Amino acid sequence: MSDDAPFDKSFDLVPGKVKEVAPQVRALVANNPGPFTYKGTVSYIVGRGNVAIIDPGPDDDAHMAALLDAVRGETVTHIFVTHTHRDHSPGVPKVKAATGAKVFAEGPHRLARPLHIGETRRLDASADMDFAPDVRLADGDVVSGSGWTVEAVTTPGHTANHMAYAFKEADLLFAGDHVMAWSTTIVAPPDGAMSDYMASLHKLARRSEPIYLPGHGAPVRDAARYVQFLIEHRHGREASILHRLGKGPADIPTIVKAVYIGLDPRLIGAAALSTLAHLEDLVARGIVATDGPPSIGGAYRLAERPRSGS
Ligand SMILES: [Zn+2]
Repeated sequence: MSDDAPFDKSFDLVPGKVKEVAPQVRALVANNPGPFTYKGTVSYIVGRGNVAIIDPGPDDDAHMAALLDAVRGETVTHIFVTHTHRDHSPGVPKVKAATGAKVFAEGPHRLARPLHIGETRRLDASADMDFAPDVRLADGDVVSGSGWTVEAVTTPGHTANHMAYAFKEADLLFAGDHVMAWSTTIVAPPDGAMSDYMASLHKLARRSEPIYLPGHGAPVRDAARYVQFLIEHRHGREASILHRLGKGPADIPTIVKAVYIGLDPRLIGAAALSTLAHLEDLVARGIVATDGPPSIGGAYRLAERPRSGS
């Protein structure tokens, strides 16, 4: 299903080497490649002289040293964090200690919904529970530095506290893990929620920035078209899940096998959680039924009542 997807796997950053990727924007990749992080987390430096850092990244000695080296002779006045996964925010304390910059973010890590009875958090290890910003940003808040202006854009879905940042002077958006060119985004309950994620995609579809700089991989060019593709991609996945349930009730492993063809085996757990995210949304909309709250071990069937549009 993703064979014709316009994913851009190109990437020309190497750890330790800072590169200007847009006017007033330098990028530095951490050496933490993997199935969820692609070539590694990308930290961004905004402005010149008095600068902001977007996502210090993982608490990795080499990356911290390279990041601080990149801003040597400059003053870091602001640190912005897109979300509290361990590949994005744990570098904050070291950068803050070294620079005295203030830390801006939507808030600490939190779940998109309460845990169900007996439910454990599958991706618990991925969350940075220690993170706390100095300044909590709300949607639309504008923060100005020396020569740059950043608008906070709440984009929950990947995590409940996910924030994108629009860089006004360059007309681009730091998209974090919400929209990435190399891959779709993992939406894993209970930290993430599909209904939030879709609403955040539709929110970006109404914005005008043509270029997104994501937390992993290459910049997104022609962002409006790509966001539209992502929306349609999720509708397609939802249709595939409903198609499978049309053949009879099924559990999540059965649905994953039917829907994700040729899946990297390392991503089966994430695919199961993404499927759960879709099923939560479908149950909330009255299209799919299950016994009790939607859970990773549950069985799912098409609901009796007529489908409502969405
Ligand atoms: Zn993330």
